[in-house]
Amino acid sequence: MTLSEPLSIAAPAGAPARIQHYIGGTMVDGVSGRTFPLADPVSNRPYAEVTAGDAEDVDRAVTAARGAFHGGWRDLPARARAGILTRAADGIEARSELLAVYESFDTGLPITQARGQALRAAENFRFFADLIVGIHEDAFRAPTQLGYVLRRARGVAGLITPWNTPFMLETWKLAPALAAGCTVVLKPAEWTPLSASLLPEIMAEAGVPDGVFNVVQGVGEVAGAALVAHPGVPVISFTGETATGRVIMRAAADHLKGLSMELGGKSPVVVFADADLDAALDGCVFGAFSLNGERCTAGSRVLVERTTYARFVERLAARARAVRVGLPSDPGTEVGALVHPEHYERVLGYVEIGKREGARLVAGGGRPDHLPEGNFLAPTVFADVTPTMRVFQEEIFGPVVCVTPFDDEEDAVRLANDSRYGLAAYLWTSDLSRAHRVAERLDAGMQWVNSHNVRDLRTPFGGVKASGVGREGGVHSIDFYSELRTVHIATEETHVPRFGADGERGD
Ligand code: NAD
Repeated sequence: MTLSEPLSIAAPAGAPARIQHYIGGTMVDGVSGRTFPLADPVSNRPYAEVTAGDAEDVDRAVTAARGAFHGGWRDLPARARAGILTRAADGIEARSELLAVYESFDTGLPITQARGQALRAAENFRFFADLIVGIHEDAFRAPTQLGYVLRRARGVAGLITPWNTPFMLETWKLAPALAAGCTVVLKPAEWTPLSASLLPEIMAEAGVPDGVFNVVQGVGEVAGAALVAHPGVPVISFTGETATGRVIMRAAADHLKGLSMELGGKSPVVVFADADLDAALDGCVFGAFSLNGERCTAGSRVLVERTTYARFVERLAARARAVRVGLPSDPGTEVGALVHPEHYERVLGYVEIGKREGARLVAGGGRPDHLPEGNFLAPTVFADVTPTMRVFQEEIFGPVVCVTPFDDEEDAVRLANDSRYGLAAYLWTSDLSRAHRVAERLDAGMQWVNSHNVRDLRTPFGGVKASGVGREGGVHSIDFYSELRTVHIATEETHVPRFGADGERGD
């Protein structure tokens, strides 16, 4: 593209000009009638109005969800709920191209990556449909009693999601909540509500009864906070920033709500000199820059053994410079536009902080010349970053990666764990014993050895330290949306100490 070519900014055909709530099976405006404008990240010009939900709207949605919970959803046989979820997966697959186009337009994610996320969203539904049919309730046999566990859906689940991969993360919560028998109120991120606007027709078509699935649009501090404060919502599943997580935990404490908190990250990639360095390089570039670097599990701190450090930094910088930054809609684009001008300014701010702190800028650091407008940042690599620098410690959430040398295994573990976060970690080595040794010592909820982030949906997902509280994924998600109650049955006569038995003799 040349400088004189205008950026393509037309909203996708069929995209709604007004994005509404979905309550009790109907698309509705908010009670207040207020809206806010929604812009795309390439032109930053508004293309739609979004209904600004508030406490009254949340209350209507919770009332609808409670009605549907008690009105039959929780009592449906698992097979029946699974059938509906499978049809929802089919509906997502049938619309996967449209979903990807919406998502890419709204978030700035490259279209090829948005396509992958749309298919993953369908898999979320299919996976939890299968799981709920196969899931069992535990039984415990003891010499004199049998205990068995009853699973019961917890009620209305409040789901609050971020903007980075909106549709995928919404479905990652929706599918297990619905599978477990909860009804839901979803509050999508205010910067990226477009793809969620397709959910009502997908759900209705799949046979989800009215009121089981509700969406309240709006800003976090109003609509999200009202959902957290609502006494009719016993569980909140939240994905977003650690700072927001703290606010939500405080607000939820008054009601002793069940919480699942998937928070921020600053994940290390540890590259030992004995690794397959070509594969490690591919992993580092993809881990740092895929999804525009707006990824909770991004490998944003690359730690490289000193004997191979200089050469590795050179190769990483060369690869970063060659990453194709472009329009999100272009299938050749590898890094698109950052989601919002506010976020773009924040990421650019970190680039300036890194320079001021004395980190060595070896790639990127500013807007690519061929993209004069929009929230575009050239993939940025800082070398010689030390652990006291803010760019080493703070989550930047953009296409910016820091590289730091280490001397030996001990040093690598120390640097990797020198973070308040602990979401993911990546390890590259050909020494099997070392892989196990280091994996055992890393403070990270999820680790990948000689691989990038390939998820197995059955495994526990979540972070340690400031990266989260609780685990989702597989049966862990179902457990979160369920109350487990235990029934103990005596199988033999049980000796009961006879308190007060002396008194009976006198009668
Ligand atoms: P955010 O915390 O600003 O917002 C997340 C959601 O919370 C939005 O829907 C927002 O409207 C809502 N919200 C904001 N304030 C609220 C309040 N007071 N009460 C209730 N809801 C409120 O996060 P973001 O900027 O949208 O997303 C980026 C962050 O999400 C990053 O830190 C990233 O690491 C994290 N993230 C984590 C995971 C994970 O699985 N651990 C996955 C993706 C993103």
